[in-house]
Amino acid sequence: MPLTPLELVRPEIRALRAYQVPDAAGLIKLDAMENPYGWPEGLKDEWLEVLRGAELNRYPDPKGRQVQEALRESMGIPASMGLLLGNGSDELIQMLALTLAQPGRKVLSLDPGFVMYRLIALFAGMEYVGVPLQADDFALDIPAVLEALERECPALTFIAYPNNPTGNLFDTQAIERIIDAAPGLVILDEAYAPFTDRSFLSRLGDWPNLLVLRTLSKMGLAGLRLGYLTGPEAWLTEINKTRLPYNINCLTQASAAFALRHKAVLDEQTQAIRAERDRLFDALAAIAGLEPYPSEANFILIRLPAGRADDCFAGLKASGVLVKNLNNAHPLLADCLRVTVGTPEENGIFLSALVGVL
Ligand SMILES: *Cc1c(COP(=O)(O)O)cnc(C)c1O
Repeated sequence: MPLTPLELVRPEIRALRAYQVPDAAGLIKLDAMENPYGWPEGLKDEWLEVLRGAELNRYPDPKGRQVQEALRESMGIPASMGLLLGNGSDELIQMLALTLAQPGRKVLSLDPGFVMYRLIALFAGMEYVGVPLQADDFALDIPAVLEALERECPALTFIAYPNNPTGNLFDTQAIERIIDAAPGLVILDEAYAPFTDRSFLSRLGDWPNLLVLRTLSKMGLAGLRLGYLTGPEAWLTEINKTRLPYNINCLTQASAAFALRHKAVLDEQTQAIRAERDRLFDALAAIAGLEPYPSEANFILIRLPAGRADDCFAGLKASGVLVKNLNNAHPLLADCLRVTVGTPEENGIFLSALVGVL
């Protein structure tokens, strides 16, 4: 008799539940940090013309050169730095782990933070070390991080900047001290770069161990699955070896290059989302019993009155609005929901539904 899944599958994998994505059919989708805006019809027609030229019978360009050039031009990636594309930035996190994994090697990040750092560490057989953020405002606990860096000696340190799911941007000098002290690579994950004015992209090269990770997902192209990693070439040359051949499909390559040529449309949308974020924050802060946390991203973390998160989440869903319930995600997130900034209409519906259920 061959071995059963129970006998053969790694216990840490068996103990997991596959990544859960709730069914959003018919709901206003404010759970996944998507840009709520589509493209103007004329632009859509132009894009479809570009796709007409895609050759589905051929493998895509192995390096995605057209996209690489468009990214370098539109994102201000320093010419001296290397660039690596991923099928979403999640894939790049996985490539980083696969490149550095060895028994006993560690991944360090901050909790509550982006869950894929912990999951991918586990997939790659690395140990995950989460350093708690400060309870009152989710700021970095610098002595705790520095102590953990020295004690754990992580091969990889991930910092989401701004952080997900808390939305805050960590102090620049605190980040600098972490990069200075880290024995391994530090990855600043700037998934929410379009929604803040701060970035470490122009500081690449100031440290030999700093890489910047970004994605097109949160700026309006989540369906394409395109992330990018940039930093010193010597690192990227090694990480590129764990990339599966042709990881960026030809429709994504053509569509992303096209979209980046029209980045002004996306920029206008992200500007509108930023303005709407501030309006939504003020409206939430004005509701008695709610504590919204300041955000530099396209979502807002909200603390509800004690014990109300689960029923408010369910009540919002019953009113047709899907948000993210973080109540059981981490002790520091007790009673918290996370709402993605939608269109003014969507946010209006969300706000009245929330007042209704409260
Ligand atoms: C959404 C998100 C990602 C993943 O982005 P994809 O490119 O869609 O895989 C990475 N990091 C953070 C912090 C995120 O919030």
